Amino acid sequence: MIKADVAVVGLGAFGAATLYQLARAGVKAVGIDRFAPPHDQGSSHGDTRITRAGVGEGEAYVPFALRSHQIWRELEAESGEQLYLDCGLLIVDGAEEAEFHGKSGIGKCSVLAARNAGVEHSVLTPAEAMRAFSQFRLQGHELVYFEPGGGLVFPERCIAAQLKAAQRLGAQIVTDDAVARIEPGRHGVKVQTSSGLEVNAESAVICAGAWNPGLVGAPLAPMRLLRQTLHWFEPEDWSLYAPGRCPSFIWTHGAEPEASFYGFPAIAGMERRGVKIATEQYTAAIDSPEAIERHVDPSETAALFAAHVAGRMMGLKPGALHAAACVYTMAPDGDFVIDRHPQIERITLVSACSGHGFKHSAGAGEFIARLTLGEIVEPVAEFRLARPALQSG
Ligand SMILES: Cc1cc2nc3c(=O)[nH]c(=O)nc-3n(C[C@H](O)[C@H](O)[C@H](O)COP(=O)(O)OP(=O)(O)OC[C@H]3O[C@@H](n4cnc5c(N)ncnc54)[C@H](O)[C@@H]3O)c2cc1C
Repeated sequence: MIKADVAVVGLGAFGAATLYQLARAGVKAVGIDRFAPPHDQGSSHGDTRITRAGVGEGEAYVPFALRSHQIWRELEAESGEQLYLDCGLLIVDGAEEAEFHGKSGIGKCSVLAARNAGVEHSVLTPAEAMRAFSQFRLQGHELVYFEPGGGLVFPERCIAAQLKAAQRLGAQIVTDDAVARIEPGRHGVKVQTSSGLEVNAESAVICAGAWNPGLVGAPLAPMRLLRQTLHWFEPEDWSLYAPGRCPSFIWTHGAEPEASFYGFPAIAGMERRGVKIATEQYTAAIDSPEAIERHVDPSETAALFAAHVAGRMMGLKPGALHAAACVYTMAPDGDFVIDRHPQIERITLVSACSGHGFKHSAGAGEFIARLTLGEIVEPVAEFRLARPALQSG
């Protein structure tokens, strides 16, 4: 039996960040994960995640992204490892109505969010964009947003760094043990794992990602699990796609659903070499994270290349060097849930994916820790459970 102030269930992007912030606050915290994070079974693997502070998905996210950038830098100074690469972020918005992360108007909304928050950015003409980044072929009508401080983070390294720092500050970590039940206990919350471990804590945070709907039930039932695929392509000229010459990018190009893709420069020294490119799909949901097809068929790579890359990105060879599958936990409105459990006040629920969570995770972890400790009383309105989009039936 373990006694703690706070139990954190799930130690992926958000759980690791929350545990770290609880430990920083001097709280006795225990984190539990069904695997040994960082791992490749949830939503936080695949080497890179886009980051940007002019967050077109909603201005409520901006403080999380900005604070995350600060935290990654602090952790880099501590650990000596690179977590955040500000290689720039380009958004080519060729179709305002295209859906990206469940929202439309990503270009226009990013400009607005950056302007309102004072985030350094520029709006380029398509010709200027192609002069700056000759690997991209635009048509001429697109809205182009460039954020020089955007770029990418290394998700596995970020998780590992925060877990290590949390442990160093006294947090206890239990791995390879799945939480089976969480219920009100005599002094707060009782957490039971499948191995029989019992954790009694004053409060708990549930950050189980794609396992959240199965673990939490009704409050998170509207979340859908969507398999997504990642593909690493070989450039003919590696230097053209190196950071410095190539930014991270998001590109929407059509009115039809899912007419968008995004990608990253080729990072030297990664085990998986290449220019990572991915799309999103919102139609084929799976019932559980275990149901995900991990194998990515070459026909999936070929379809992505033909639909998105060909004619838009220069000098990439069509076959993938590597490919991987990963899961989105998608809210109907594309927004997060960071809120107290509707029936058990001492439990904080976190479902923060919808395809765009990682960049916010370090800053959000600080918010979640403070919300759980009662230092912040009001959850962010946009992330509440009691919003119309989550009220099914
Ligand atoms: C393909 C893909 C591309 C993405 N691209 C971007 C991007 O470019 N930029 C960006 O900002 N975001 C991006 N995201 C979103 C971002 O990665 C997610 O928002 C984030 O990783 C979600 O973190 P999480 O902590 O909710 O889930 P996870 O990191 O999956 O963590 C959940 C953890 O809970 C554990 N767990 C589950 N059940 C239990 C249990 N019963 N007991 C104990 N532990 C349990 C799991 O083992 C896991 O470690 C992308 C996501 C995907 C899938």
